[in-house]
Amino acid sequence: MSTTRAASIRLKTALPGPRSLELAARRDAAVPKGVGHATPIYAASARGALLTDVDGNVLIDFAGGIGTLNVGHANPDVVRAAAAQLERFTHTCFSVAPYEGYVALAEKLNAIAPGRGPKKTMLVNSGAEALENAVKIARRATGREGVVVFEHAFHGRTLLTMSMTSKVQPYKHGFGPFAPEVYRLPYPYEYRDRARASAAFLEEFFLTHVASDRVACVVIELVLGEGGFVVAPREYVDGLARICRERGILLVVDEVQTGFGRTGRLFACEHYGLEPDLVTIAKSMAGGLPLSAVTGRADVMDAAQVGGLGGTYSGNPVACAAALAAIAYIQEHELVERAAVIGRAVETRFRSFAERFAFIGEARGLGAMRALEIVKDRESREPDKAHTDRVLRRAYEKGLLVLGAGTFGNVIRTLMPLVITDDELTEGLDVLEHALAAS
Ligand code: PLP
Repeated sequence: MSTTRAASIRLKTALPGPRSLELAARRDAAVPKGVGHATPIYAASARGALLTDVDGNVLIDFAGGIGTLNVGHANPDVVRAAAAQLERFTHTCFSVAPYEGYVALAEKLNAIAPGRGPKKTMLVNSGAEALENAVKIARRATGREGVVVFEHAFHGRTLLTMSMTSKVQPYKHGFGPFAPEVYRLPYPYEYRDRARASAAFLEEFFLTHVASDRVACVVIELVLGEGGFVVAPREYVDGLARICRERGILLVVDEVQTGFGRTGRLFACEHYGLEPDLVTIAKSMAGGLPLSAVTGRADVMDAAQVGGLGGTYSGNPVACAAALAAIAYIQEHELVERAAVIGRAVETRFRSFAERFAFIGEARGLGAMRALEIVKDRESREPDKAHTDRVLRRAYEKGLLVLGAGTFGNVIRTLMPLVITDDELTEGLDVLEHALAAS
């Protein structure tokens, strides 16, 4: 390890160490291949932005459980609130004996989610489940069945959300037939596809793909998550929102990955002055516990019949207590502002990486949600997945957990906990630079 680094990363063994390898062998016998892993390291404990593996190696975490840990691993306020709720009761089912935590969290989300009018919130367990419910509600509210999504979108792995997801490998291959009435628009991915990234193309879409009066909703990620941290241009989003409004189509913004401060605003919608009809939220809402929500216009949310929404575990009381604590922590510790600071620091380093390494086609992002797109050369812009995988591997071998993304598997993205210290951030970026130089 370089002597210029601070002391966060402590590697006792080459990665993966013997205990991780032993667990990997047990895992191979017990767990199906289809459940993938970004690294072969097994976690033993984690605090803040540091993760200790079962061999005692300490790694800096730029992955944050795929953007779920904005308040940090084992955030003390979240742990305390969850533990206190565990002592009171673990589960009653909100559809059987409701409880205050669910209502309090709904009130909180109604107050902080984008949109000025009256709002309501329902809770479920995962990002995919939130998307499923947003579509159900939009269909019931409009009496239409069509769902318009985007190329490069990721909305989940259930049948409907897998159908809404764009990337074929590994998410869809061989898993069809897919849910009907899902239509796909090009995403305004300006680095790769300028020609189709215009609102004029939207008008044409309703002539060539589906009549707009059969469309219940358009679902968009304002910054593509799994799709590679591509930021939708403001004018495109303005045009999309206008066309939706004019044609009675509900606009659903998927903030599962962008929400809770990641982009330097509490929700990415705020960058666009956007008031969507419905918003889907999950990941960092509950500090790592499984919880998600659909929040939206009260009149739309109330469209579904009694009993049409819900689920056995939906809005679990422990997860609600964790979420109330996580949201309070984000607000009290100004993590949204911190995300903007982190984002500027990462952006500066990523710009310098792009100057140093000709294989970086684009450095981009919004707030702390930043990415590098790796290409074979800048003229052809041909994606280079093999090179990207080498960088990611080199990074974790030197003690940095960082994830890939993108339809072509050639994007490196940052999702570090927003409680990361300046030293940890610098050290993690140093490791990434080393990995880029050595690959
Ligand atoms: N929507 C977006 C934007 C996501 O990034 C994800 C997951 O990464 C999902 C939906 C699905 O969430 P989950 O994996 O919790 O089902």
